[in-house]
Amino acid sequence: MSSSENNTRILVVEDENEVRESYLDMFQFFGYQVDSACNGREGIVKVTKENYEIVVTDLNMPEMNGMEVLKRIKKLKPDIEVIVITGYATLENAVEAMKVGAFDYFTKPVDIEHVRIVLYKCVQQIKSRRENEELRNVNTKLREINELKDKFITITNHELRTPLTVIKGYLDLIDIFMEDKKDPELAEAVEVIRSSMLEMVDVVEHLHDLSYFDYGKKKISKQYIEVQKLVESVYNEMKVLFQKRGIEFHLNAQESSMAIMGDGERLKRSVRELVQNALKFTEKGGMVELSFYVKEEANKLFIRVSDSGIGIPGDKHALIFEPFYEVQDSMHHTTSKTDFMGGGIGVGLTLVKEVVSAHGGEVMVNSEPNRGSIFTLILPIET
Ligand code: ADP
Repeated sequence: MSSSENNTRILVVEDENEVRESYLDMFQFFGYQVDSACNGREGIVKVTKENYEIVVTDLNMPEMNGMEVLKRIKKLKPDIEVIVITGYATLENAVEAMKVGAFDYFTKPVDIEHVRIVLYKCVQQIKSRRENEELRNVNTKLREINELKDKFITITNHELRTPLTVIKGYLDLIDIFMEDKKDPELAEAVEVIRSSMLEMVDVVEHLHDLSYFDYGKKKISKQYIEVQKLVESVYNEMKVLFQKRGIEFHLNAQESSMAIMGDGERLKRSVRELVQNALKFTEKGGMVELSFYVKEEANKLFIRVSDSGIGIPGDKHALIFEPFYEVQDSMHHTTSKTDFMGGGIGVGLTLVKEVVSAHGGEVMVNSEPNRGSIFTLILPIET
């Protein structure tokens, strides 16, 4: 007997003492918690005061018959399941009772095995209804939280943009004022403000892009992109950061006039995102390679970033593309924040995936802990 059956409370409504007692014994023997009422009126009073999951009622009773008991219960507490008891001669009453919401019926004299099965089915139905209800509630909550998150992102993004523009404007002014003074301490302080501001700009840009894409709804505009130029410019922009951290950084690209149609700025940002991650998650002395190649037969372009870094466990490969997900606690990133404009907020790969799928492509990840990672953007070549 499962614990849910043990916790199920059943009320037996039956006017004949002996029959009532026999039901009580039988249900107790099955492991249910049982209570009884000796007529319909008492039954209804008990239903209003107590919490039962199931009511088993005789149909043929003086004062208030079982049909009336059933109707009142369904009105008062529709979640209670009602099983009616009837004789063979009055089977049509049981059918009537089913029409107004009875779960099932027992015929007199009762067959114990049949009763056991009907009660078991009834408990299962109650259980699955409750589970469904819980799932519905959790779903509604999740939807609300998601909407709240989207709203939060939009508001934060909007509210941060204006003060950042003001800060940037004043920093440029300070630069002009300082030109004659040449105060090294002041210059250093301004540099710290500038790099912190750039970290914030980076976060705001990511949030902006996240609400821009709104998970796959936004289309991108396409221009003619020379792939080699795009990859080389990311390489050139970022190689100094690798030098600073003592990581080898290679570009592996043969001369190519390969071109695709796409959103150049967003694709470049996506490649930069992968390279930044490789930089972040590779220790000093490690190696990162940026490359691209074409598979003519498939009409596909592959842009690949491989690193010899810390790697990602297999069960996290899908999760890293979820917004705000980070395998490691971001407090423990090995690189200092200033080296790559902010420690990251866990949306980089979400955006990469959005951008690439807006181009009809996909992102592939191959990675193992302590052996490094390979991220590949696979893009269709439009002819
Ligand atoms: P973040 O801003 O944290 O870098 P991303 O969405 O770009 O956000 O990446 C999500 C998470 O995936 C990272 O926090 C990290 O745990 C993991 N990850 C991404 N790229 C790599 C990589 N090259 N090596 C190891 N882990 C990585």
